[in-house]
Amino acid sequence: MEDCIFCKIAKHEIPTEKIVYEDGYVMAFNDLNPEAPVHVLVVPKMHISNFDDVDEENFVYLEKIMKAIKEVGKITGISEKGYRIINNCKEYGGQAINHLHFHVIGGTKLSSKINVG
Ligand code: AMP
Ligand code: ZN
Repeated sequence: MEDCIFCKIAKHEIPTEKIVYEDGYVMAFNDLNPEAPVHVLVVPKMHISNFDDVDEENFVYLEKIMKAIKEVGKITGISEKGYRIINNCKEYGGQAINHLHFHVIGGTKLSSKINVG
């Protein structure tokens, strides 16, 4: 989709933070404003606006994203002790960029509380 920053990053049209993992379906790159020692965003290479727009036709991307998250966990070394996966969906979910993305956050012990603030 035109004017979508994550589409552009996924197509290598604009540079971004370090790319952690990439395959034919998915790109994973460091978040610009990390909230933990490891903070990676995992995005589909196809434009899907948000989690609610995942459907039977594009579901393969969700499967690829989940596999990529496990790879990111291994590559960054956070798999062993654990990590958190976050998806902000639409306005009330706090989604700022309207291209589906999963935050993979770790490298420190996170609070068990879910932040609803
Ligand atoms: P969300 O609120 O779930 O939409 O999160 C959007 C995330 O994208 C934020 O954590 C931003 O720091 C991050 N972000 C925005 N622009 C970029 C960029 N060009 N490269 C990497 N991360 C970005
Ligand atoms: Zn997009």
